[in-house]
Amino acid sequence: MPVNNYKLTDLDKLVSLSKRRGIIFPSSEIYGGLASVWDYGPIGVEIKRNIKDLWWKSFVSEREDILGFDASILMHPNVWQASGHLDSFSDPLVECSETGKRYREDNIFIAEKEDKGKKQLFSIEANDIEEAKNLVNDKSTEIKNLKDYKEKNLPSPEGGILSEPRMFNLMFKTFMGPLENENATVYLRPETAQAMFVNFINVFNSSRKKIPFGIAQQGKSFRNEITPSNFTFRTREFEQMEMEWFCKPGEDENWHKYWINFSMEWFKQYGIRKENLRLRNHDKTELPHYSKASSDIEYNFPWSWGELETISNRTDYDLKAHAKLSGKDLTYFDQSTNERYTPFVIEPSMGADRSVLAYLCDAYCEEQLENETRTLLKLHPKIAPITVAILPLSKNEKLSSLSKKVYDILKSKYNTQYDDTQSIGRRYRRQDEIGTPICVTIDFESVENDNAVTIRNRDTMEQMRVNIDRIVEGIEDSITEMQ
Ligand code: ATP
Repeated sequence: MPVNNYKLTDLDKLVSLSKRRGIIFPSSEIYGGLASVWDYGPIGVEIKRNIKDLWWKSFVSEREDILGFDASILMHPNVWQASGHLDSFSDPLVECSETGKRYREDNIFIAEKEDKGKKQLFSIEANDIEEAKNLVNDKSTEIKNLKDYKEKNLPSPEGGILSEPRMFNLMFKTFMGPLENENATVYLRPETAQAMFVNFINVFNSSRKKIPFGIAQQGKSFRNEITPSNFTFRTREFEQMEMEWFCKPGEDENWHKYWINFSMEWFKQYGIRKENLRLRNHDKTELPHYSKASSDIEYNFPWSWGELETISNRTDYDLKAHAKLSGKDLTYFDQSTNERYTPFVIEPSMGADRSVLAYLCDAYCEEQLENETRTLLKLHPKIAPITVAILPLSKNEKLSSLSKKVYDILKSKYNTQYDDTQSIGRRYRRQDEIGTPICVTIDFESVENDNAVTIRNRDTMEQMRVNIDRIVEGIEDSITEMQ
């Protein structure tokens, strides 16, 4: 496993590396960008694809009891009526009287300070109370969330007065067909989960699985977030990786524990440092309307701890709600016990973009060398966008010809990049910055003397001479060392 002792504290370093190296770009940048919408560049798309593929492997391909699924983004509006999203998928929003800026109520914290014997109130925008306390930087100051204040006309972080909270539905609306009226309204899904509930019977009947079993899918979701923030952490369009695990009522609590553990191990397996992960159980007041118990896996991001995944016990809420509104039978008959019941559902719901961000933050590293600072991404080799870079020492016909031969041997086995553009030092720097675990250098010795190449390990910078006939073994050994 790559060892990283560096802790990224300034997110801007990662934002600028991402832009420079083609990981993530601001959307529509030539028009000034679109707030909090991002595009994955040629390097970023590979990282995201690797993470999604590893998830698919663990949650679908390697399991007999989970089936894959891929639903449309647009669904019948009744889906959102039954699920409760039309009535209650809202955040309380407050607005500054001076600037009109809107905030989520739970992101505003009020601090009290004594000034010449008088109580002074001021407000801070933060993700949670820990971050608010850090921003105030004075342990003696009392801080409370805005919603815990009874007083009206509290100050806003921008100098005005905060309005009363009002509920704001987070679903994006659009129209289906040529008429733009109420009857034509459809919604961009705010979660992928509902498609798996409304297809439960289709999947069950076509696969003849027995409970417990799961349905899993990855795909885009949309939420008109009031305050998107922190690079790709909270955006209005994002990708989710969700699995609905249908089980017998009464066995739900044990399965909940099982999926919490499974998910936590999944993040660690691909290199997130365990000290940067924690589990946070929701208290009763925080639980969404459908949930009996929810636990978040959080990552220690540069600004504070933030949610990567929620594992919820959704009970039989969704299946019963859809059965009621559709009039269809969504129960399960258990032949082994002759019982009919509505299954309970445990849901591990992970954000693909947030996972990419967490893996990038965890892998970011700066090392002090003699004359320079080396920046690198110590990504797990299975997540790294390029596994092997082929670097001929210089642009020379003989070197190119042998290098192309090496490239042809490796390209079907690894995600391989051929680069002969700049000085070798600059090329190593570039590959370090995008997290390439192995660089293969071809020099004149290779052509004229030993038919061998140099394999360089990203993390140790150690170089090893390997004969081209044994190059795959050499690479495998170095990669195994890094896993
Ligand atoms: P938050 O409390 O951060 O708003 P949530 O609890 O509403 O998130 P869930 O509904 O549990 O999120 O969604 C499951 C996962 O989807 C989250 O853990 C997160 O990884 C991802 N996710 C949710 N909202 C966003 C968003 N706006 N941008 C990026 N990823 C998101």
